[in-house]
Amino acid sequence: ALGASYPQEAVTPRRTARPLDEVTPSIAGPGEFHNAADTDPSVTEHRTWAQRIVAGDEHRPVQVAEVTTEAEVDDVVARAARAAEIWSQVAPATRAAALRAVARRLEEARTALVTAMVHEPRKTVAEADPEVTEAIDFANYYARSAEQLEEIDGATFAPRGVTLVTPPWNFPVAIPVGGILAALAAGSPAIAKPAPPTPRCLEVAVDAIHLGLLDAARDAAESGADTAFDEQLARDVVQYARVPDGDLGKRLVTHDGIARVVLTGALETAQMFAEWTPERHLFAETSGKNALVVTPAADIDLAVADLVRAAFGHAGQKCSAASLGILVGSVADLRTRTGRRFRTQLVDAVRSLRVGPSTDLGTVMNPLTEPASGKLLRALTTLEPGEQWLVRPRRLDEEGRVWTPGLKTGVAPGSFFHTTEVFGPVLGLMTAATLDDALELQNAVAFGLTGGIHSLDRSEIDHWLDRVEVGNAYINRHITGAIVQRQSFGGWKASAVGPGAKAGGPNYVPELGEWADGADVP
Ligand code: GLU
Repeated sequence: ALGASYPQEAVTPRRTARPLDEVTPSIAGPGEFHNAADTDPSVTEHRTWAQRIVAGDEHRPVQVAEVTTEAEVDDVVARAARAAEIWSQVAPATRAAALRAVARRLEEARTALVTAMVHEPRKTVAEADPEVTEAIDFANYYARSAEQLEEIDGATFAPRGVTLVTPPWNFPVAIPVGGILAALAAGSPAIAKPAPPTPRCLEVAVDAIHLGLLDAARDAAESGADTAFDEQLARDVVQYARVPDGDLGKRLVTHDGIARVVLTGALETAQMFAEWTPERHLFAETSGKNALVVTPAADIDLAVADLVRAAFGHAGQKCSAASLGILVGSVADLRTRTGRRFRTQLVDAVRSLRVGPSTDLGTVMNPLTEPASGKLLRALTTLEPGEQWLVRPRRLDEEGRVWTPGLKTGVAPGSFFHTTEVFGPVLGLMTAATLDDALELQNAVAFGLTGGIHSLDRSEIDHWLDRVEVGNAYINRHITGAIVQRQSFGGWKASAVGPGAKAGGPNYVPELGEWADGADVP
């Protein structure tokens, strides 16, 4: 509704290294895909449905046993390798049909998936439900990618082989489902290893994927299209492997039979994987230290709402989260009306966030998935020189999972909080005299994942867009909740390791394959 009067878009700025998915224009109006972090928060009105979820009657403990021996790891890879031979021969159109069948089964599994996310990583229903939608969007979008490969099939594209998908716990459904289905679209089998805190979420998702693949196998057999696509293949082409981190995890990641590793996780993990495996194997989207710039030409109401949403959604546990607000000129100046208004509204908005368990439908900010420790605990409990709390975070439980949100001002250039990803509910404010100064602060970090500007001045927006160093640049919008196709998602600078193709964008599936001439993706 706001889009009609305000410039609101998200684009991928020009990359210097390798311009993949260069521009991802996004429209404010209704689109074909709709991860709906955009969804109307009135989801909480669907009380009957939501109450089933929070009651958790259907929430089962993890059913699948952990892989505990080296021989079992080898067996998983061997099954995938056999599946690779057959799946790579299955026609792209059949693969696409399979992905669409998976989309239907994911929709059927929506309640079970949301339930797992509410009870396991402790997402709110309002955050978990759009995540299921995003997973379904990935299925339908990558189905189309598979069909587009067919047009260039035979020319240069060849499947790459067994793909290992190692997702994070913060998006324990959409991210692994996206990785698995992109691999399938590219003609490769997938092994999915859940993040240790969220095995159940992935288990439910893989069950739905198997049901979809079984539907598709039956259809293929009936039509005589792909006789090799049988029940065995449907089970082996996607395997859920609950391999613990440590030696067994390393054995899986470095296994000779693995051709590609799709990792979403902390930079440290990506660096470890890159050391273990030749870099060409690795597709990694890593950490972020993301800022939203607010200029005096901003609509202050919108800027405050978007900053709060981007900073504290899922308690800030998103690599896309806004961790910094960079206030330009009068927005930071309490002697001006704009400065006072911004400050008062932001403080009020942060204070008003209702914190509680994810099983309470009134909760706006959920607990942390794991008790705060390390960098996050430092950010929640200490101030660096020059910093001051505007809203001081409080711990509400023994364990250190439940925190009220924190807002601090006076974050100094080059300080710990300016440059370090903390992955939790703390927002820091920095000040800049001009837009160029703001850009300097925004670009001074090693990461380049998301970033935003709030300004109604087109020349300011264009100036910023030409200079900001992030994979996903958002204008007059919160900076989380990328939407498949409309805002393909990926990092720049230290936020990406590997070819840098963006999830939910046109190059992702092609990049997962092999190009005979070794050339770039056409
Ligand atoms: N795709 C998510 C978003 O746009 C972020 C994914 C992540 O945190 O890993 O908010």
